[in-house]
Amino acid sequence: MEAMRQAVERARAAFKSGRCRSLEFRIQQLKALERMVHEREKEILGAIEADLHKCGHNAYSHEILGVLGELALAMAKLPSWAAPQAVKRNLLTLRDEAYICAEPLGVVLIIGAWNYPFVLVMQPLIGAIAAGNAVVVKPSEISEHTAQLIADLLPQYIDPELYPVVTGGVPETTELLTQRFDHILYTGNSVVGKIVMAAAAKHLTPVTLELGGKSPCYIDKDCDLAVACRRITWGKYMNCGQTCIAPDYILCEPSIQDKVVENIKRTLQEFYGEDVKKSPDYERIINKRHFRRVLALLEGQKIAHGGEADEASCFIAPTILTNVSPEAKVMEEEIFGPVLPIVTVKSVDEAIEFINRREKPLALYVFSNNKKLIKRVISETSSGGVTANDVIMHFFLATLPFGGVGNSGMGAYHGQHSFETFSHRRSCLIKDLKMDGANKLRYPPSSQKKVDWAKFFLLKRFNKGRVGLIVLALLGVVAAVVIK
Ligand code: NAD
Repeated sequence: MEAMRQAVERARAAFKSGRCRSLEFRIQQLKALERMVHEREKEILGAIEADLHKCGHNAYSHEILGVLGELALAMAKLPSWAAPQAVKRNLLTLRDEAYICAEPLGVVLIIGAWNYPFVLVMQPLIGAIAAGNAVVVKPSEISEHTAQLIADLLPQYIDPELYPVVTGGVPETTELLTQRFDHILYTGNSVVGKIVMAAAAKHLTPVTLELGGKSPCYIDKDCDLAVACRRITWGKYMNCGQTCIAPDYILCEPSIQDKVVENIKRTLQEFYGEDVKKSPDYERIINKRHFRRVLALLEGQKIAHGGEADEASCFIAPTILTNVSPEAKVMEEEIFGPVLPIVTVKSVDEAIEFINRREKPLALYVFSNNKKLIKRVISETSSGGVTANDVIMHFFLATLPFGGVGNSGMGAYHGQHSFETFSHRRSCLIKDLKMDGANKLRYPPSSQKKVDWAKFFLLKRFNKGRVGLIVLALLGVVAAVVIK
């Protein structure tokens, strides 16, 4: 525990040394991370395979591609992200320099989750380094192989004092959370999210909480079901359903339920073959605790497909449940496994009502040929993000902020949004000491005449552009002279 306190202290001292202020230094660290990913690719893929039974191709596209993309973007765009942004001035500041300057927050804590154990640590780390912070990295102990590899590799490539890695489980994270940080980004479940936020509150530390929830997927009758179900099958069963933005359940009208099941079954065979257990593209549940939890959700349900399981290898087959009651246990908590319940609704109105009666989800999906219906679902519901006519894909567009709302989290990251999350937007106004006469308006003694002039200059709306502003500035000088 003492080692942890020292790691945070060292990171703070390294931050105070000022070496991560320069953009050159930050880019050099990002380049080193890129080199690490290239040079140690095999070991990274091996650790992910050991944790999640994920084949190299999938580990590369699910985890490494995203990291390399984020690195390339940050290195290319950092100078423009970090450049001071000039802002519009008003009459009182017409002669001054006014801008927003992004400054690093200090020491950031990043707590990762096990389901995408590499990218969920690396992606926020890239943003926090780009923004000029020191970062304490805490990977999830549940994906132990990847956690250990991250702890071994990072100090070999990037500044070990600025970016220490802490490994361990609940006791270590609990201890870490007693330390003072300048920002915490936590990825995981909402119960622990509350613990993190309570610990952060003690130091008034801002938090980004990347949580989960039940992400609904509404399928409209007017839709190409074959395409819709192929996309849903991909997003639901990848990583054995252990994806925070996987479609958690389907809402559709009873008349299309059977067709949805048929299309998903056909796609499953297309993706994973006759024997899904033998498919290199199908992962396993992370551990026995989660295996038993997911299996228990099947009790009393009508299994339209799948349901087979093997505890020794933590295998649960891709499963579809039909005519699921909204009160069923499987509809209470986030499934986080390869089980897809279908709840039937009479109409899109009932689907919207259903979604709005529950906690705000991390993602929401709607499939329809009707753009008006899609826009209506978006405008009458709330969620962290939305993809229409596909699933998961909003995650991969770096220009979109990724994060939750309400019970699914707060704050967001990815691309420039990460840079902003880990920066303080500092307001800077630089004046000179000339023309103090104009300031008489705000100096005592007060008078009705001063108030009238102030109202005129501050409250009146002028849409005359630059010329109008110059005329007003001249009027200001006149006012100052009159008042004097
Ligand atoms: P987990 O068990 O790996 O926990 C995440 C981190 O929290 C770990 O580093 C762990 O050490 C720490 N932790 C656990 N219990 C703690 C405690 N009592 N006090 C302090 N720290 C503690 O991950 P998980 O929570 O099982 O992850 C699954 C959840 O995460 C799902 O709800 C999923 O939707 C969500 N998730 C969200 C995102 C996202 O980007 N929004 C991504 C992945 C997963």
